[in-house]
Order: sequence, then structure tokens, then C-alpha cells
Amino acid sequence: RDRAEKFEFQAEVSRLMDIIIHSLYSNKDIFLRELISNASDALDKIRFLALTDPAQLGEGDDAKLDIHIKLDKEKKVLTIRDSGVGMTKNDLIKNLGTIAKSGTSAFLEQMQKGGDLNLIGQFGVGFYSVYLVADHVEVISKHNDDVQYIWESKADGNFAVTEDTENEPLGRGTEIRIYLKSDAAEYAQEDKLRELVKRYSEFISFPIYLWASKEVDVEVPVEETEEKEEKDSDDTESEDEESTETKTKTVKETKWDWELLNDAKAVWLRNPKDVTAEEYDKFYHSLAKDFSTDKPMSWSHFNAEGDVEFKAVLYIPPKAPYDLFENYYSQKAFLKLYVRRVFISDEFDELLPKYLSFLKGIVDSDTLPLNVSREMLQQHSSLKTIKKKLVRKALDMIRRIVEEDEDEKLDDKKTDEEKEEKKGEVSEKKGKYAKFWNEFGKAIKLGIIEDTSNRVRLAKLLRFHSSKSGDKLTSLDAYISRMKPGQKQIYYLTGQDRKLLEQSPFVEKLLKKGYEVIYLTDAVDEYLTQNLTEYEDKKFQNASKDDLKLGSKDEKAKFKEVKESYKELTKWWKDLLSGEMVEAVKVSNRLADTPAVVVTSKYGWSANMERIMQAQTL
Ligand code: ADP
Ligand code: MG
Repeated sequence: RDRAEKFEFQAEVSRLMDIIIHSLYSNKDIFLRELISNASDALDKIRFLALTDPAQLGEGDDAKLDIHIKLDKEKKVLTIRDSGVGMTKNDLIKNLGTIAKSGTSAFLEQMQKGGDLNLIGQFGVGFYSVYLVADHVEVISKHNDDVQYIWESKADGNFAVTEDTENEPLGRGTEIRIYLKSDAAEYAQEDKLRELVKRYSEFISFPIYLWASKEVDVEVPVEETEEKEEKDSDDTESEDEESTETKTKTVKETKWDWELLNDAKAVWLRNPKDVTAEEYDKFYHSLAKDFSTDKPMSWSHFNAEGDVEFKAVLYIPPKAPYDLFENYYSQKAFLKLYVRRVFISDEFDELLPKYLSFLKGIVDSDTLPLNVSREMLQQHSSLKTIKKKLVRKALDMIRRIVEEDEDEKLDDKKTDEEKEEKKGEVSEKKGKYAKFWNEFGKAIKLGIIEDTSNRVRLAKLLRFHSSKSGDKLTSLDAYISRMKPGQKQIYYLTGQDRKLLEQSPFVEKLLKKGYEVIYLTDAVDEYLTQNLTEYEDKKFQNASKDDLKLGSKDEKAKFKEVKESYKELTKWWKDLLSGEMVEAVKVSNRLADTPAVVVTSKYGWSANMERIMQAQTL
């Protein structure tokens, strides 16, 4: 096209496309659900805009929000068309090429590590998966604010954008024309497309049509009958029934028409009793754009009634997202918010606290108003109630994993004999909480810091290694159940790694006396212990701080004597260190074999915290 304006892809996008177009990846199927998912997003957007400006929707076919898939078998061209919001010229340039999404480099990195191409949608670059099956793609788009444009690229580092004067006007929306590669000929079959849409796009809430042929039975009149009928009709007096009936025969005929592929019944509106586990799994994959074979760890589907009414399905994903804790404070919650069946947003931060942003799900509210701006919605009073209930349900869902996990029971309450008995039993719930903890434990810790109203509930979910936990993890409740008679505190030590902590002079005496010490090795643990200072009326005691007190009354009296007798020495020592390098020099009863140790004052930072703070300022 002569009038075409040429552009270069942003370098990372170009690299990404290069990898995709040359990929020998066998599961090329994914391109279709990525394009359908984009079409669905675009339809959601126009429906949302139309809430406040109904004219945006247009009339006739434009007002119908749907997706049409059509094949040209001879030319091997697959076309996907939606009546969504469309793209202006600027949108086409920005969204499809010149501005790299934040996920682009992360995805490239994953691919270099041999990561799964299947996860492309989660990185916000799903569109480019079309180059798994195409060597040439045209995107024709019409947005309400602009004329119709064609974007096209052969994945050679460039793309072109031209005002479209050659194709039929779209009204509004986007049509993607995919010129299939020779090794992607299988996608030029209706059966294949039908199967893929049914498998991957079952939960898209807009109708998806495929232009397909169907063998239909047609009744055609048999000619001789007609003759006979004519004769019969002459005889109007005849009472012979057979003679008045038209003789027909059935023949097969091929008819082309739009075939509806999905029946778009919203899972969350159904009664939980009627939804199967398989349907919940599939709905998760579609919602989270997670098409790995891993199933979600758990889900919770409920219907909140009362002042604020809503329906919700929450999921714990099988794995934490790749950047969950890297960009913790800029993480967006991933809950889809609907108001009375209309999609509003999936970037609504007000629905879940930060620490639960690893959850996926959907909330459909009957109470929120439909035709107000997003800003007004964000301030609506019932959001607080929704949030509170969602948090409660989420924590219940996590607690249920604990309750159903055989391993958890063995650890905490069962005797050794019972443990032996249970060993033989196989259960898919076994070890499930440990798995959860491995992926999302840090979120629970952050929750304890951030969410004071749920601190106790969250503290119950904490797991640690301790001097008595062996290879397993232990809970605070289990720790308390093992406390020695008269023990009033929960002992812990923070540091970089468990081995070092186990050998630390700080814990020598404690261990010798049979006290259990919790080992905390996460950077966030320092903040955790600053916020969680007691549990079930037991105070936490850092073993490296100078207020650690051990021993009985008798011992205490004896210790006082010893302290007195060494007064000269400790004074001399403190002066020697010129009084600046240390705050005090004290006789200690915390050590068993080590002669001396440097400790931190009760109110100061622990050595580990110093280390963390230093790492952060460097
Ligand atoms: P994501 O969908 O995660 O944003 P994609 O790579 O799939 O990432 O799509 C990139 C962007 O291109 C979308 O965010 C959207 O702005 C635009 N886009 C893609 N397909 C369509 C479409 N059918 N209609 C309107 N905009 C689209
Ligand atoms: Mg997409």
C-alpha cells in the first residue's frame, strides 16, 4: 500500500516476535484464545463506555456485542472480528508495536529460561502469539473517535498503518486477518476451530460465532406425489386421507450459517451446588488467563446478602505470579468487578487489600450503581463492606486448606502411633498447605503487618522452621502445645539462613535447656516480629536481644551475685571500648559454651535488621 506509514517495532517487541515466529513450540493453539480474549476485552470496554454514553454503542449490528470467526480455506486466511471498542490510528501504533508492555522483558526472560509460551497472556503480550500460526497479519480497526485503519506486519521488525479505503466499513470494532503459515494449515478447518473455542473460550461472556457448514435434512416433495396430488385435488369429495398428504423425501443438503459455539452462562450466577469441580477449574483458567495444566489450589463461591448484595468466586492460584513480591506496592489486585452482570474493571484496587492481591476472582454486585463514573464507584460506601467480606471469605478458604491437610493434623495433634497409622493413606490434600505456604507465605506475613483487624486469624496461618520442627514447618499453635511448663515466651531468632541460626551462640543455652526456638530467615520477618509482638498471651522474645531472661528464682539470685563480682571487669571492658562502640558490657547467663557474644538492646535493631537495612540503602 503506497499511502502506508511505516513504523519500527520497539526493540523488545521485535525480539519477542522473532522468537515467536521462529518457534517450534508445538502448542500453537494458544493464539486463538489470546485473540478471543482481546476481542472480549474490547467488547467489555465498549459496553462499559455505553453505560454513561449509550450513543457509543451505535445501532443495528454495531449494538450487538459479539465475535465472529470466518475461514477462507482456499487462501488460508482466518478472520476474527469483534464489535468491541476498536482502535484509533494512535491506539494501533501504540498498542501493537511501539510501546513495550512492562511484561515484555519479563516474558523474554522466562522464555530464555525455557519458560512456557502458554503463559504469554499473563505478561500482557498475548496478541503476538498470532505469529505462531501466521507470517502475515492485518488488523483492521474502527474506533468511534477515528476513521478506519489497517495495521499490518510480516514480523520483520516493521509494521505499517494505512487509512482503510479498500475494505467494507466495520461500523465499530476490530477484524484480525491471519494469513496462515504452511505449517499451520490445521487451523484452516472449521472442526479444529470449533474444538478450540469450546475448549478454551467456554467462559467468554459474549457470543462467539463460527461461519460453518452443516449437513441438514431437507424435506423435498416427491414429484410423482405432486402429480398424484394434483389429480386428487381435483376430487374434492375424496375422504381418503393418504391422498390429501403431500409425499416428500428427505435429502441431505449443505447449509452455511453462523454457528454459536459458546453458551456463555456465567458461573458465578449459578448455584454452587450445580457447578462441578471441573467447571470451577476451567473457569479459573479462563479468568486468570492461566492455561498451564495446574489446577487452582482452592476456590470459594458465595453469595453475600443483606445491605450489600454481591456474588463472588475467589481462587487461590496454583502458583504465585512471577512478580508478586518484586513489585509488591505497585501490584494490581486481579479481581474482575461486575455490576449487575456488566463488566466494570479488573483494576479495582479497593476490593482487596494488597497482601491478598495474589487471589484471582470475580465480584458481581447488585448494590453498586451502574451509571456513575469509575471515580464515584471507587468511593462508594458499600465497597468497604464488600472488601471486608471478601477478606473474611479468603481467610476462611485458606484456613480450610489447613483443616483438610492430613499433614497439618499429623504435625499438630496426633501421637506418633497415629502418625504411623496414617502414613499409608494417600490423599491429594496431603502437603497442600505446605505448598500454599511455599507460594504465598510471604503474603500472609505482609498481611499481619498491614491488616491489624485480621492479625490473629493470619497469625494462625503462619508456619516456621524451629529447633524442633525437623524438615517440616510448624505453627504457633503447635509451638505453644510443646512449650515447657512455666515457659512464658515464644523464642525466636532472625538471620540469613537456618544453619547459621542453629549454631548461633544466642540459642545455645535455650536449646540446652530444651526450649524450642523459631528460626526466621525471611527479610520480611524482621518487620513481622515488630508488628506481631504476642500470640495467645505469649510474648515473642528475640534470642539476640539483651532482655532475654532465663532461669529460676534460685538461679536468678545466684546470677545477681556473679554479676556483682564481675562489676570491675565489665566496667574496665566498657571503658576499653571507649564507651562508644558498645552501649553496655554485661555478664550474661544466655551462653553455654561460647565465651562472649555481641547482642542488641531490646529497643535497637537486631543485627539481621541492620543487614537488611544496609542492603536496602545500597
Ligand atoms: P493484553 O490483552 O494483555 O493487553 P495483548 O498483547 O493481547 O495484551 O493486546 C495488546 C493491546 O492491543 C490490548 O491491550 C488492546 O489495547 C489492544 N488490542 C488487541 N486486540 C484488540 C481488539 N480486538 N480490539 C481492541 N483492542 C485490541
Ligand atoms: Mg490480550
